[in-house]
Amino acid sequence: TMDLNIKGKIAVVTAASKGLGRAVAEAFAKEGANLAVCSRNEERINEAANYIQSVYKVEVLPVVCDVTNPSAINNMKKEVIKKFKTCHILFTNAGGPPSGKLENFTAEDFKKAIDLNLMSTINLVYAFLPYMQKQKWGRILASTSSNVKQLLPQFPLSNVSRVGVATFIKTFAQEFAHLNITANVLAPGLFLTEPTIEYLKNLAKRKGIKYDEALEKVQKTIPANKIGNPEDYGTLAAFLVSEHTSFITGETFLIDGGVYSGF
Ligand code: NAP
Repeated sequence: TMDLNIKGKIAVVTAASKGLGRAVAEAFAKEGANLAVCSRNEERINEAANYIQSVYKVEVLPVVCDVTNPSAINNMKKEVIKKFKTCHILFTNAGGPPSGKLENFTAEDFKKAIDLNLMSTINLVYAFLPYMQKQKWGRILASTSSNVKQLLPQFPLSNVSRVGVATFIKTFAQEFAHLNITANVLAPGLFLTEPTIEYLKNLAKRKGIKYDEALEKVQKTIPANKIGNPEDYGTLAAFLVSEHTSFITGETFLIDGGVYSGF
């Protein structure tokens, strides 16, 4: 086994009650990190925190926080510092903007998407940076989408709102690397979470086929011939925030089963 050396470290994981964020929170907890986890729905984030705490025997602070709201982020920071005194690891994540054709959206929709994905990341980084600067140790990982590398034509809002995350993180990374604060980007392809299951159900309905047939159809478009397992996403995230990655910064990591054809 490889010891990631994050036992006892304090990690903040946003949008963590379900899906990819939840898998990342569990992967960090499995390595012994204490956590603050947030989402908008109080019941769901409490349930997630209780589960993680009881299974992995780490301290988990649930916080109700909509990451599009800067004052909610500020309140979360206060709660985290009150309980844990500092933050070593920040994993930024939020929901995704709706899909659809560009012609059916408005400028206001783009602004909302930018608040959801880009401004939330920037606000979170500024909130927790002072503690990382002070302790000269920090790991920031921003969760985006494979469209930071290659457009997803059916996701115009996401295509725009996510690329700025990658450029923000890379610019940040170069400025703070000397303090042993790294910042990287995760760019997921298709993973089996609730929104993906919904998409597959709708596809099946639209085509008049069974769910399993829709699944197979979609899997065939992915060279790995499968949809990603959120647990694998968590494993990569845990490695990237570990003690071993002080020389890895400003990078974007695709985890997409081979879909992307660029270099
Ligand atoms: P999911 O299973 O629906 O989980 C979304 C999580 O985010 C929930 O815990 C939700 O809890 C929380 N959340 C949503 N909006 C929030 C907000 N404004 N503030 C705080 N928490 C919020 O979704 P997922 O599939 O894991 O996707 C996570 C992100 O990855 C999305 O941005 C998605 O677009 C992106 N992504 C996913 C895939 C994929 O295949 N799954 C691929 C590429 C990119 P509450 O409802 O309680 O807030």
